[in-house]
Parts: sequence; C-alpha cells; structure tokens
Amino acid sequence: MIGALVTRLSVTAGLLIVALIAVACFRQPPVDPAGLDPGAVAVEAAAEPTEPPPPLVDPAPVDANELGEVPVIMYHRILPDPPGGYDRFPRQFRAELRQLYEQGYRPVRAVDLVRGDLDLPAGTSPVVLTFDDSTREQLAYDEAGDIAPDTAIAILLDFAATHEGFDPVASVYVNEAPFGGVADGPRMLADLHARGFELGNHTAGHRNLGQLSAAQVCRGLAGGVELITDAVPGAQVRTLSLPLGVPPQRAGWPPRGRAGGVAYEHEGVFLVGAEPAPSPFSVEFDPLAIPRMRSASWDGGEPDYASGFWLDVLARHPGRRYLSDGDPSRVSFPAALGGRVAKRFRTAANPY
Ligand SMILES: [Zn+2]
Repeated sequence: MIGALVTRLSVTAGLLIVALIAVACFRQPPVDPAGLDPGAVAVEAAAEPTEPPPPLVDPAPVDANELGEVPVIMYHRILPDPPGGYDRFPRQFRAELRQLYEQGYRPVRAVDLVRGDLDLPAGTSPVVLTFDDSTREQLAYDEAGDIAPDTAIAILLDFAATHEGFDPVASVYVNEAPFGGVADGPRMLADLHARGFELGNHTAGHRNLGQLSAAQVCRGLAGGVELITDAVPGAQVRTLSLPLGVPPQRAGWPPRGRAGGVAYEHEGVFLVGAEPAPSPFSVEFDPLAIPRMRSASWDGGEPDYASGFWLDVLARHPGRRYLSDGDPSRVSFPAALGGRVAKRFRTAANPY
C-alpha cells in the first residue's frame, strides 16, 4: 500500500506521506469501520494528535461492561452413569450449553481470556469451557472413524452446529496416554488442534505440584508440553490447569522455564474453584491464579459455588457480568468502574 501511494505522488509528497504513516503506526490508530483510505486516517491522526478518535460503537445501549466477571467452567467426564461430583450426564452437559447460549454466553478459549483477545458481538458475554484429563468420555472415535456421539466434544460440536454464533471452542488439558491411551490419541489431539480447540498443559504425571521440589515441578511442566508437541508439533501450549488445583509451594514460581531440552511458557494458570474469573482487563485479574467453577446444576438451596449457582447469580446481578461492546479494540465499562482498569489496557479504555 505504501509503495502504491509513493508511485502516485511526487517524491517530496511521497516522503511526507510515508513519514505521516510511520507516525500513525507508532500511534496504532484503530481500524476504521467505514473503510476509509488508511492513508487519509493517518494524515488526520497526525494533524490533530490531541483529539481522541470517537468510539467505534456506543456501549450504552447494550450496557457493555468489559470489566465484568467471566465464568470459566471446569468439566471432567461426560458419561451415562457419572459416579462423582465432577462428572456429568450428556443431557446435563447439553442443558448447560443451552442455558449458556440462551443467557448470551459465547465460548472463547482459555488463552483468549488470558490475552484479553475477546472479539464478541455487542451484548454477549464470554464463557470458557475447560476439560481436564483428556479422558475417553471427552473424545473417542467410533468404528467409522467419526467422533463418537455423547462424548463431550461431539455434544459441543453438535450444539454449535445448530446454534448460530456459538463457536465450538474449548480448552482441553491433556494427560499422558490421552483419551484412554488409544493408539489414535496423538491423531485425536491433532484433530482438536485443527478444529480450533486449545491444547493446554495439565503436566506429565498429574501429580500434586505442592508436594514436589522445584526441579520436579519444572520437569512436570516441560513434560506436559512435550506430550502435546510430540503429537502436534505446531501446537503452542500457553495455559496450564493445575492438577488438583494445587500450585507449587514456592511463591512466585516461574511459569516459564525449561527442562530436558523442552521450554515452557504459560501465560495463564487455572485453579479449581470456586467463583467467576475477573475480567482480563481488570486490576483484579491475576493470570497465574484464574478461578474456575465446577460444572454442576444448582437446586436453589445452599450455595455450592458450581456453575449452576454462579450462572444464576450473574443472571440476577447483570452488573457483575462481562458484557461485550462489540469492538475488540476498546474496553468499555460504566465510568464509575474506571479505577479498576488494568494499567496495560488504559489506552484502550472507553468509559461511558
Ligand atoms: Zn486433572
């Protein structure tokens, strides 16, 4: 584009335009929705450096609050006869997806939450679906080589296919011998990756990191990355779900490191329990301790701090919930919350 401009203009004018565009690049002007020539935007921006560009969308009609809370739901097995409180029937999983959809939630991956990479329609809310332990109840192939019905991934794919705007994306935290140790395990990880699912670290060995030495923690983290990248060489492993929800003992343990020739670099670390996560744009967001809630129905009795309870709380208190403004380049929120914007997002802040 820059070259084309220069050839149309005299050398002097061309140099001026190039200089203005260079200034604009450093200023990172927002994408112009009207499709105006970017060069014209650059000239305008350089000519009036003190005038902030107008908001691309009006956050008020949808009560946008991008400092609101985000449910991160933790699933284990989806199976016909769940023995434990961490597992769910297929019909319960379908019902929860329906509830999320009807309440305006749209799935994003854990890494998208951590990065604040949330590109959702105005008035909708992000939800992160996480699956721990890469079990056979989450993903299996049938004899024809298709994804077996009633596995978690099949249910999610089916639901998304019939509910517009509900992307079938989730974060799958992988154990050794994934999906029951079947021979297809590595190919199944590659299949998930190709479909846009995030493959996350759940460590090699699935041991309680709070009981391990620093060197053992390091090996467990690197080993978890290795078992994914051995199967899917192009995968970037960027989030970690702590086995049993327990962090290493050493405060400030490094989420980046290397062991056995394998480097790891986690941008986000996910806990077990027991509340919605703060917005990634909020000062309260700690990328190394992101809460998740167990998936479970709630009968309206004593609080159980699982998904049914919290989805009810967020429905009854809409001011607590993250609501998108529809513009991924801005962080919109009621002006009264202004002090809660994290420093690194202040230039994108759009209070109203
Ligand atoms: Zn686990």
